[in-house]
Amino acid sequence: MDGPTPHPGLEQRLAAELKQLRAEDLYRVRRAVEGGHGVALTVQGKPCINFCSNDYLGLAADPRLAEAAKRALDASGTGSGASALVSGYNREHARLEEELAEFLQRPRVLLFSTGWAANLGVLRALLRRDDVLVADELNHASLIDGGRLSGAECVRVPHGNLGGFGRALREARDAGRQALLVTDAVFSMDGDLADLPALSTLCEAYEGNLMVDDAHGFGVLGERGQGSLDLLSHPAAPLPPPLVHVATLGKSLGAAGAFVAGSDTLIEYLIQRARSWVFSTAPPPAIAAAARAALRIVQAEPQRREALHANIHRFRSGAAQLGLNLSSSETPIQPLVLGAAERALSLSRHLYEQGYWVAAIRPPTVPRGTSRLRITLSAAHTSGQIDGLLEALADGLRQVNSDQWLVASKGETTASTNHWPLTTSH
Ligand SMILES: *Cc1c(COP(=O)(O)O)cnc(C)c1O
Repeated sequence: MDGPTPHPGLEQRLAAELKQLRAEDLYRVRRAVEGGHGVALTVQGKPCINFCSNDYLGLAADPRLAEAAKRALDASGTGSGASALVSGYNREHARLEEELAEFLQRPRVLLFSTGWAANLGVLRALLRRDDVLVADELNHASLIDGGRLSGAECVRVPHGNLGGFGRALREARDAGRQALLVTDAVFSMDGDLADLPALSTLCEAYEGNLMVDDAHGFGVLGERGQGSLDLLSHPAAPLPPPLVHVATLGKSLGAAGAFVAGSDTLIEYLIQRARSWVFSTAPPPAIAAAARAALRIVQAEPQRREALHANIHRFRSGAAQLGLNLSSSETPIQPLVLGAAERALSLSRHLYEQGYWVAAIRPPTVPRGTSRLRITLSAAHTSGQIDGLLEALADGLRQVNSDQWLVASKGETTASTNHWPLTTSH
């Protein structure tokens, strides 16, 4: 008798998939940055201006954050040594949680080691199998994975489709099921804002619950940097706080980690049940100290947000003069959708040769046929750097499919062997 048909091993399967990714221009590699993370970077020996970071306020390399971290390192060493429920919860963590709660005027805050861990932990903890998760289709990958992990039914609603959100919430209510509507506040690859007032009203009308992930709005939006909820809250019709408010500390705050803000009940429940928090070593106290320093700067230096918004405006009006097909985003995230992965790669390479670093964003981070340059602005960019980028873009676009670049092309091309590696994984 014959044995089972021999089949290629797992490693061979991986090798075959890698080959396929290369063939489709979807292969990704990292490039090591030398020195601190800022607007002016050295990448593999080449100086360039960074236009793809999430360090929107220019805090990642601010010496005051490093000083705070150094003091905490001297006082508390490097590792936290254990999970927070065992012995890893340091005074620095406790103070950061209190200061964030105070800043957002919410009862409690719980610190997580990453935004990814926060979203997985929250969704898995809150939802049961017979619950319904109602999610915008462009939500961050961590929200999609958290939904899957929870075992709840996931309804993916077309981007921003209020009718779709309303229907899903109503059906859940009519079936007597708990519904949690979850959305990015600022969509990470498009830069547009969720209609939080409308989503909040829908949740109220249909007895749904709201979870908002403000990874890209926290520190940046709203007069005091409290984020998207504050920006979209009208004095005449203030937004009720969502059940779950997640934001991260590794983007505009230039540190690392994330937090959930909410009621006492929510936070106490997460402390008992959020597995990515319970079973994970607490972040180093020095990171919490750096985040505390950043939070002070966010509050004390509104001029950073003003500079950022002036830079966004300068970029957008310059781009409009050049006839660039930008989206309507008014956040620091300014996508230039190019269609095929290869076009995004070519333009990214051209910019890099001119000294500008803008990673090409391709599937699966964005849908097929919508590969793009995700240009991000920082408070630390100078006018000259922005004008220089615009000039390099105009020049590059003349070279990339010169007559077609105004329109996002429909299918991806697959034949190119251009493996330009300036990419970001997200
Ligand atoms: C970056 C991001 C996360 C993940 O946060 P990390 O701290 O980087 O793990 C979660 N949600 C959104 C919307 C993000 O953009």
